[in-house]
Amino acid sequence: MKIRVAKKILEANDRIALLNRERFKKAGVFVVNIMSAPGAGKTSLLEKTISRINGKLRAGVIEGDIVGTEDAERLEKLGIPVVQINTQGACHLDANMISEVLDDLPLNDLDMLFIENVGNLVCPAEFNVGEDIKVMLLSITEGDDKPSKYPLMFKESSALILNKIDLAPYLDVNIERIKRDSLKINPELKIFEVSCKKEEGIDDWVSWVIDLRDKGMKR
Ligand code: MG
Ligand code: ZN
Repeated sequence: MKIRVAKKILEANDRIALLNRERFKKAGVFVVNIMSAPGAGKTSLLEKTISRINGKLRAGVIEGDIVGTEDAERLEKLGIPVVQINTQGACHLDANMISEVLDDLPLNDLDMLFIENVGNLVCPAEFNVGEDIKVMLLSITEGDDKPSKYPLMFKESSALILNKIDLAPYLDVNIERIKRDSLKINPELKIFEVSCKKEEGIDDWVSWVIDLRDKGMKR
């Protein structure tokens, strides 16, 4: 596994994001930027997602963490290319960090690239990295006030995945409120209810994202 340390951001983010985007397009890779708070289950979702995609499509992962390689090690077990970015303090990934690791991935051999952003509900939504879509993962244990408190994440995402839905009977969380408030911010948002632990709802999300990729590649 290669570990890259993020360098100082010298260039404007969006210009680099556009260059990344061109590289992804040329390589025929559909790129999904996954954002959530720490502990919502991004790595678990990727494990479940990639194990379903494997054999149909070739997936790769860019793993973003402030320090450490634990999540990347979990995903490498799926037999896919994984690159770790350690941001050394930065609480989000930016286009420049992504650009610096692209040579470490066999882009031309990939169909889908998942970017696991740093766990944070604020700034990951502010930085385009050249992705096709942003996807937000929210654990229902985080409460039903998150759409109203962190609207940008919901606004920028194409899909909202509500994880740990199996815990609903033990929580006071109002799932209908999460959905209603999210759709108020972003009427286009596609919402999935999943339990990575119980393997519930994963297939719906996976076929949706594969479908979106197929449509995007024909464009
Ligand atoms: Mg993780
Ligand atoms: Zn940040």
